[in-house]
Amino acid sequence: MNVFDGCDGQRLEMTNGGTAVFVDVLMLAVSALAHRPWDFRFAALLTLQDQNVMGRGVVGFGLAELDWGDTPQERAAAKDFLLRVLDLALSRHRWEELTYEPPRAEGYLRTYRAMVEEFDPATARAGTGVLPKPREAAVASCVRHRVLDALPFWQACVFCTAGV
Ligand SMILES: [Zn+2]
Repeated sequence: MNVFDGCDGQRLEMTNGGTAVFVDVLMLAVSALAHRPWDFRFAALLTLQDQNVMGRGVVGFGLAELDWGDTPQERAAAKDFLLRVLDLALSRHRWEELTYEPPRAEGYLRTYRAMVEEFDPATARAGTGVLPKPREAAVASCVRHRVLDALPFWQACVFCTAGV
């Protein structure tokens, strides 16, 4: 079980298998939309949710733990990016490439989208270090799977480590 926290005690709890699906479909969407520096830091955070590397049941993060930016404009842009990622994932972007059926993914995504929508980035706690630093942002794509991989942390994407 892994937990992704929102605000006011809201939380998305997923089984280890459910979390892996959630990360996979978000990775497909993030890789299509990442454009600004913050987006690639969030992509790096997603690569760190890879339970094949980090361990089963030990991933997850809270929205309030992220560094959303120093100005209202930066914070709004970051939240907008995350909402667009969730919307693209909800449109089943590249789901035909998955090697499994993701029956619960849509429910997870809808729940998480509502949590992000309601979350005010101005209430986030500064300095938690949860969001990877700019120099740790995901910079490379996995050639085989065409998603951002975990460099500079390790050279593999979430589909590589799953043995797909
Ligand atoms: Zn790969």
